[in-house]
Amino acid sequence: PTRGETILEVKDVTRRFGGLVANNNMNFSVKAGEILALIGPNGAGKSTMFNQISGVDTPTSGEIIFTGKAVAGHDSREIARLGMSRSFQHVRLLPRMSVLENVAIGTHLRGSTGVFPAAWRLDRKEEERLLAEAARQIRRVGLEAHMHDEAGSLALGQQRIVEIARALAADPCLLLLDEPAAGLRFKEKEALGELLKKLKAEGVAILLVEHDMDFVMGLVDRIVVMEFGEKIAEGLPEEIQQNERVLAAYLGG
Ligand code: ADP
Ligand code: MG
Repeated sequence: PTRGETILEVKDVTRRFGGLVANNNMNFSVKAGEILALIGPNGAGKSTMFNQISGVDTPTSGEIIFTGKAVAGHDSREIARLGMSRSFQHVRLLPRMSVLENVAIGTHLRGSTGVFPAAWRLDRKEEERLLAEAARQIRRVGLEAHMHDEAGSLALGQQRIVEIARALAADPCLLLLDEPAAGLRFKEKEALGELLKKLKAEGVAILLVEHDMDFVMGLVDRIVVMEFGEKIAEGLPEEIQQNERVLAAYLGG
C-alpha cells in the first residue's frame, strides 16, 4: 500500500459478551505508514478490539476491512497472510533458544496462536530460508550482535525487540503491538521508540495499545481513546492531551 492510503478500517464494530458490551459501535481507521495508539483505562475494550482485528475474536456486528478485504471473523492465519502481524502483551520467547531460532520459529508459526508444534520438521531448504529471513529481520531491528545469544539472557527491552523481529517476518504492512513499552526502563523505551519510528519510515503502519503516555505522546501520529467500550475521543497527541473528556476518564472523573 502507498503511504496515506487507508489499510485498516473498523466500521461500527460491536462486541458483546452476554450482557456486557466490550466494544460499542467502534469506528476508526489506520493509514499506511501511520502510528496510531489505542488508549483508555483498564477494561475499556482495547484488547477485545485487537483480538477482533487480528482474527482471534469475532465481532457481534460490524465490519473490519484490511487491505480492501472484509476480514471480521476470518481465521487469524489468513489475516496474517494478508500482511498483518501482532505481538502479545507478555513476552512469548523460548528462553533457552537463540534469538535467531526464536525469530525463525515465529516465522514458521506466523499466524498460528503460538503453540509450539510437537514436530518442527522442515526440509533443509525450507529451514535455510527461514533462518535467512530471521537473520534479515534481526538485522533490521538492530539486534545482530545478539543473534546467537540465548533469548532469555537478553534484557526485557531487547526481548521485546526480538518479538517485534519475529512479527516482522514476511514484511507485514500493519503491526499490532499490545503494550510494547510496559515494564521497560527509560533507555529501553527510547530504543523501542526509535525502532518504531524507523519501521514507520520504511512504510509499516503500527497500531499500539499503550498505557505509558509519555511514550505514546512522543511517538504516535494519532490517538483513539476508549472508555467503557466506546470511542470518546480521536485526534493528534496535543489535542488528546487537552481533551476534557479524556482527562476526566483518566482522573476517574
Ligand atoms: P482492556 O484491554 O481495555 O483493558 P478488554 O478488552 O480486555 O479491556 O475488556 C473489556 C471488557 O470486556 C471488560 O469488562 C472485560 O472483562 C470484558 N471481556 C473481555 N474479554 C471477555 C471474554 N472473553 N468474556 C467475557 N468478558 C470479556
Ligand atoms: Mg488489555
